[in-house]
Amino acid sequence: MKRALITGVNGMDGSHLSDLLLSKGYEVFGMERRSSSKNRTNTSHLEGKITFVNGDLSDQNSLFRVIKESDPDEVYNLGSQSFVGESWNTPEQTSDVTGLGVLRVLEAIREYGKPIKFYQASTSEMFGKMEKFANEDTKFHPRSPYGVAKLYGHWITTNYRESYDMFNVCGILFNHESERRGIEFVTRKITDGVARIHLGLQDKVVLGNLDTKRDWGYSPDYVESMWLMMQQDKPDDYVVATGKTRSLGEFLDCAFQHIGITDWSKYVGQDPRYMRPADVFYLAGDSSKAKEILGWQPKTSFEEWVGKMISNDLELLR
Ligand code: NDP
Ligand code: GDP
Repeated sequence: MKRALITGVNGMDGSHLSDLLLSKGYEVFGMERRSSSKNRTNTSHLEGKITFVNGDLSDQNSLFRVIKESDPDEVYNLGSQSFVGESWNTPEQTSDVTGLGVLRVLEAIREYGKPIKFYQASTSEMFGKMEKFANEDTKFHPRSPYGVAKLYGHWITTNYRESYDMFNVCGILFNHESERRGIEFVTRKITDGVARIHLGLQDKVVLGNLDTKRDWGYSPDYVESMWLMMQQDKPDDYVVATGKTRSLGEFLDCAFQHIGITDWSKYVGQDPRYMRPADVFYLAGDSSKAKEILGWQPKTSFEEWVGKMISNDLELLR
């Protein structure tokens, strides 16, 4: 039985990856940080099935202990301060956890001595200012403290692969969403808002920059690519995306259609509070390499997963 350690287990991807690895017969260890009240909304169904271990990406010694305790064959580093908007409010903490946290996990693995495969959650935010489809060779130009911290994590993972011959892979994943997405991200904010409008609990969804485009996919499909990268003979980096870019307006069209509204203009407001000092206006990914080498491609259609998010939010609110 293979043993996997997932940092950020209570997050969206961490919980979906746990589901996937359990279905493949893994013993799963999930790292969570201590908090006054536990945050296991996404993982309550996993209690008794996985082992929760306490650790913090900003604390080197806790990571030494977690690696020793879990003795993993594979480590998936999904923990991070993952919200771009927040990274301007807490740039130092974001750099520490999202950037240096990667170095600390790598050091803990190195110190432990046994060969352990390592997955780093890199991101399309590293491309930032881009104009056409990005692949593994596209130049990086991050546009937020989050993107800059992730770029450090990406390069230190690559550097440790080259320096110490470690099996380190980086998945450069474009935006992906699910029913378990954090409420401050734009897709979940919209599906929750649309569900509230449908139930008469709210009049409007108030957003920031509407002039933005993303290549959005579905998290349960994307975590499969992480696992596939770790099963290859050689460690490498892969872009994971759908190849279809949509505007925020198209996302709103699709979400409102699920409750029978075609003209959503009177239900959507704008507030400068949700604007960012610098934004990424356009993201489009070319995942041909992942398709060719990993045999990976998205399974769930845009309309289907947006529908799942709305149904889930309606059910939660009811
Ligand atoms: P989430 O925000 O849902 O999950 C991140 C997790 O990291 C949370 O469980 C959080 O724990 C944990 N965490 C935060 N700070 C620390 C810390 N100091 N020590 C240990 N754990 C910590 O993110 P996603 O699941 O959406 O994303 C997974 C990874 O993939 C992240 O690294 C993200 O940056 C990256 N990524 C995500 C993309 C996306 O579209 N979703 C795209 C590309 C990359 P807590 O619950 O305690 O806050
Ligand atoms: P990101 O791509 O990781 O930054 O994911 P988000 O879901 O946070 O944001 C996606 C895009 O939607 C960005 O260009 C945001 O500026 C834009 N956006 C517009 N309004 C909002 C809002 O109210 N909340 C968030 N989170 N993003 C918004």
